[in-house]
Amino acid sequence: MLQSKSRAWLQVDGDAVRHNLKEIKNLIPETTEIMAVVKANCYGHGDRQLSMLMQQEGIKTFAVSSVDEALNLREAGISGEILILGYTPKEHFHYLHEKQLLQNFLSLDYASQLDEYASLHHVVIRGHIKIDTGMARLGIRCLDDDYNIQEVFEIYKLQHLSVEGLFSHFSVADSLDIEDDRAYTIHQRELFDQVIADVLQAGLNPGKLHLQNSYGVLNYPELCYDYVRPGILMLGFTSDDSISINTSPEFIPAMSLYAEVSRVRLVKKGCSVGYGRHYKAKEDRLIATVSIGYADGIPRAASNQGMQVLLHSQRAEIVGNICMDQLMIDVTGIEHVKSGDIVTLIGQDGNERVTIDEWSRCVHTINNDLVCQISARVPRFYEHF
Ligand SMILES: *Cc1c(COP(=O)(O)O)cnc(C)c1O
Repeated sequence: MLQSKSRAWLQVDGDAVRHNLKEIKNLIPETTEIMAVVKANCYGHGDRQLSMLMQQEGIKTFAVSSVDEALNLREAGISGEILILGYTPKEHFHYLHEKQLLQNFLSLDYASQLDEYASLHHVVIRGHIKIDTGMARLGIRCLDDDYNIQEVFEIYKLQHLSVEGLFSHFSVADSLDIEDDRAYTIHQRELFDQVIADVLQAGLNPGKLHLQNSYGVLNYPELCYDYVRPGILMLGFTSDDSISINTSPEFIPAMSLYAEVSRVRLVKKGCSVGYGRHYKAKEDRLIATVSIGYADGIPRAASNQGMQVLLHSQRAEIVGNICMDQLMIDVTGIEHVKSGDIVTLIGQDGNERVTIDEWSRCVHTINNDLVCQISARVPRFYEHF
């Protein structure tokens, strides 16, 4: 039985996360550890709570996108390693050594700036070198015809940096159906292995090695580097459920999203609903207003697209334009709808379920995008933590 908690709220199930961590561990070699990617407030789920749960489950290494996110985890009590995957601006360099964080050494130029700072302040800055094997985002470019291994060696040799790892990132690990994409991923892996071999050959210790994101784990589970870097998978879904994968794990979505009915009224034939008057009742309809809108993270692009939510374990269609704080649904035929009833926007109600994938398909994006947009004003509640 669903219980009301707010006008709109997000519920996260700790048991689901524990289960998903186990499923991931079952896929990967025993010697490989999980580096939990909890960036962007753990994909909107709440980074402090989720990271603490993961730490209790034995996860010792985390990755975030920014120094602010790393500081937030330290404050929450995360004592393990935290790798900042993104760029840290100069004015925040001091946090890197003060809080014992690992920085992405994302280019030779950037590593040199960090080294200079560390030299000046008599500190050591720790981090992992990023290798660009084809993503063309961050990292030292190491492609067949643009192979800058000398730059990698130079970073290892910078006096005031402690290079403790080497990593790269897949750009099409999700794509199995297109031969060219598969070959691309396999070649990214070969290039990464070549860099590792060259580093060893040069007498340097590469440190911890890691390559796979969630789709890297699902489609290339046999790779056995020191870490895998799953993000979205720990939360129980993939970026796009229409994409087939190589393995068959059973993940459980951790997130559910709810809101309350504020008002129900009869809208007579010919009357319109909402801004822009894009929906007009073809006959008398019972319309309920739900207390959640695009300022809460419901994509406005889902207006008038036939997107459905759940009420009393039945499907109800969103009608008219989604407003900033509210949306309207057609509840004709659903019995006893009243103010205070709970609407499920993501999750299970009785035998019915609305998935994040339905939303993503409706607005032509990926799940990662949508879950990150559930805004700060939606309170998060944690069950089984
Ligand atoms: C976001 C990110 C990940 C995790 O990606 P998922 O697809 O959520 O598993 C891993 N590595 C890097 C470098 C990332 O930016």
